[in-house]
Order: sequence, then structure tokens, then C-alpha cells
Amino acid sequence: MVNAAALPTTIDLAIVGAGPQALTLVTHLLQKKQTMRNRFVVLDPSGQWLQQWQHQFAAYEIPHLRSPAVHHPDPNPHALRAFAESRFDELFPPYDLPGTQLFHDFCQEVIRRWQLQDRVVPAQVEHLEPIRKQGRQRFRLTLTNGEVLIARRVVLAIAGGIPHLPTWAQALPRTYPPERLCHSHQVDLRGLRLSGERILIIGSGLTSGHLALGAIARGAQVMMMARRTFYEKLFDAAPGWLGPKCLKGFYAESSWEARWQMIRDARNGGSLTPAVLTKLRRLQRDGKLSFYEQCEVQSATWKENAWQVSCNHPEAHDCITHMPIDRIWLATGTTLDINHWPLLSAIREQYPISDVEGLPILDKHLRWPGCNLFVMGGAAALQVGPVARNLFGAKLACDRIVPALIKRGF
Ligand SMILES: Cc1cc2nc3c(=O)[nH]c(=O)nc-3n(C[C@H](O)[C@H](O)[C@H](O)COP(=O)(O)OP(=O)(O)OC[C@H]3O[C@@H](n4cnc5c(N)ncnc54)[C@H](O)[C@@H]3O)c2cc1C
Repeated sequence: MVNAAALPTTIDLAIVGAGPQALTLVTHLLQKKQTMRNRFVVLDPSGQWLQQWQHQFAAYEIPHLRSPAVHHPDPNPHALRAFAESRFDELFPPYDLPGTQLFHDFCQEVIRRWQLQDRVVPAQVEHLEPIRKQGRQRFRLTLTNGEVLIARRVVLAIAGGIPHLPTWAQALPRTYPPERLCHSHQVDLRGLRLSGERILIIGSGLTSGHLALGAIARGAQVMMMARRTFYEKLFDAAPGWLGPKCLKGFYAESSWEARWQMIRDARNGGSLTPAVLTKLRRLQRDGKLSFYEQCEVQSATWKENAWQVSCNHPEAHDCITHMPIDRIWLATGTTLDINHWPLLSAIREQYPISDVEGLPILDKHLRWPGCNLFVMGGAAALQVGPVARNLFGAKLACDRIVPALIKRGF
């Protein structure tokens, strides 16, 4: 049983979110300055570390991580390998990708070793407001339960992506049962009975692949559709983005728009890992899966308890129009735009910020210009690079935020 932390009235540092980014920050901060131990709080509605991470791995039945074992929230890159000493069968090829359970157990060990078990306050921050207290700049954090916390500095580690829905899905009248059309973040494979169902999964990323494998294992027939051709890639971005090979050029680029383009090119939309694509191709050969590539839904109608779908290539895919579809899952990713973070409305007003396509232009310490608000995760990508949202991105973010947090006078 994890004890939840109590909410103080004032604090030096408030960390919003308790995902892998926040955990990485806390371990790196304590490694550099033990005396910070009693000067921060972590706020997350779950009251626990990594709740969202664990949920998504369990809901999609993901067997192992996509990133290698050196990427994790502890400052020692070898700590996970050492932890796995007697569990090497849980490190998957080609680069020792940690099994889901191994990674979970390791993170619990990290939490225990850094004595962070009871450090998450169960609270959602609704509003963040810059204030002046005795002439000094502070933040007032208002929680959804009405409680208030005053903090000198704030780090936002909330991920913050909003599920992206294709236009045709947004325009649909809500005449269908909600579980028949879901964004992937609403799908939880556990407990679903799909035998005999036909499921259309849209999107070319790894989430599509995991959902397709899970649905087929439950007896469904799956159609995977993407605007592009499904393609394989080991990691979200090329390994060069994990070191100076690519990052040097990125950091040397002075145009934020050019950096945004580099991020886009590096991630290049959704991709499947070679292992997952191989499994899917096998299922295709077994007649359990079909791919609809270079293809988009034109319209979908809920009729007689099934979806009737037409696509933009009826000449090539006429078949789909005649197939009743039981469920549509939209594995279409998320959109990140800080202009749409309601939490920040007062900050944006008082400290206007420039952005490129929704990504804020932070300073080199990932600080919002004009105030002591720091941002981690995908929203820091213009400074950190294309892997900002990943585990390694959290480490890169710490290299920038921690020196500022421990500096005198900051
Ligand atoms: C299925 C999946 C698999 C992935 N696998 C990998 C992988 O193998 N390797 C890798 O490097 N990356 C992976 N990623 C990418 C990334 O590492 C994860 O998405 C990771 O969870 C991001 O960490 P985070 O801390 O930014 O966000 P989250 O884990 O989403 O945590 C953010 C937390 O902030 C909380 N929060 C949000 N708003 C508020 C608020 N207003 N007040 C208080 N708390 C709030 C949320 O409740 C949540 O707990 C994966 C992503 C997905 C979706």
C-alpha cells in the first residue's frame, strides 16, 4: 500500500505529473542535490508514480519496451541491466529491450531506492497562475478540489497531448454505441470479447500494431488502414537522435521552424517495429488481417448495428464498402499544442510566448520566458529534439533543467 503525500501550503518546487519524465527529473535532482528532498512535491491525480505508463502497457498488452535497457528514469544508465542480472530472458533483442514486467519492477526499485514511495500528492492541477508574494514572483496552483498551493518554481511534466481524431470522425452524429468507435487511448484490450468481430484499426504506428495483435488473439478479424504504407523502424526516431550524430546539427540550427521540420522528419509519423510487422504479415498470410495502405476513410455510417465505411480509393478497395464493421479504433496519435492547455491560460496572458505549430519556444533550461516555469516531455521538443517525449528525452531535459533548479538564486 502506497501512502499518498500530504499537500503543503507553500513549496519551493511543484512538479506537475508523476510519469516517467517527472520520475527522471526527481532522481536526477536528488542525485545532484540531496537537500532538495524536502523542498518539492509531485502532483498527479492518481497519487502514484507511472500510473499512465502502466495503464497503457497493460491496456495494449505490450510485451516489452521499444527503447533499449539504458533508457529509464535512474541516473545510472547501467542500473536496469544490473537489476536484470538474473532476468536476462526479459531483455529482448535486438538491443536489450526491457520486458514490461521487468521495467515495472525496476521502476518500483528506483522509487524505493530514492525513497519516493509516498511523494505523490493525489491532485490534479486545474489552474496555474503567476502571482507576486512579498514582491517575489510565485505561482498559485489551484487543484480541482479547490485546494491551493503556492510554489516558487514549477515543472510541468504532464505529457499534454490531446487525442487526434480525423475530421470524418469528429463530424459523426453520436448515434452509435460509444465503444464502437474509440480513440486508441480509450481501448483496453483486457476484458474485451471480440470473437467473430471485424475491426478496422486506423493509423500506421506501433499502437495500431499492438491493438491488431490483441484483437486477433481474441478471435477478431482485423483491417489495418493508414494514409501511408506501413513501414518498419526499430525506434521512434533513428538512433542518431540519441546522441551528437544528429543532435549536434539540431542544436546548431537557429531557426525554430527548421527545428520543427527536423523533428517532424525524424519521427516521420507512425512506424511499426520489425518484430511486430513480421507478426502482422504472418497473420495476413493466415487470412486474419488485411492491410489497407495509402488509404483514408471517406465516410462511415452506423447502420444496422455495424459500420459501413467507404474509403478514398473505392476503385482499389471496393470490398470495404460491403463489409459490415463491428468496431473502429483510431490509433491516430495525439496533438500537442500548448495554446490549448487550459492550465496555462493565465501564464500565457501574463508571459506571452512564441510557438511553432503549438510547441513553445522555451529557453535553454526549458524555462518559459519570464518566469520559473519549466516544461518537460514532448512540449520541450524544440529545445530537446525529436525524442523529447521518450525516456531518453527525459534525461536530456534533466541535463538542462536540473542545473537551473540547483543554482543559487534561481
Ligand atoms: C503505448 C506507449 C508505449 C511507449 N513506449 C515507449 C518506450 O518503450 N520507450 C520510450 O522511450 N518511450 C515510450 N513511449 C513514449 C513515452 O515515453 C511515454 O508516453 C511516457 O509515458 C511519457 O512520459 P510523461 O511523463 O511525459 O507522460 P505520462 O506518462 O503520460 O505522465 C504524465 C502524468 O501527468 C499527469 N497529469 C496530466 N495533467 C495533469 C494535471 N493537470 N495535474 C496533475 N497531473 C497531471 C497524468 O495524470 C500523468 O500521470 C511510449 C508511449 C506509449 C503511448
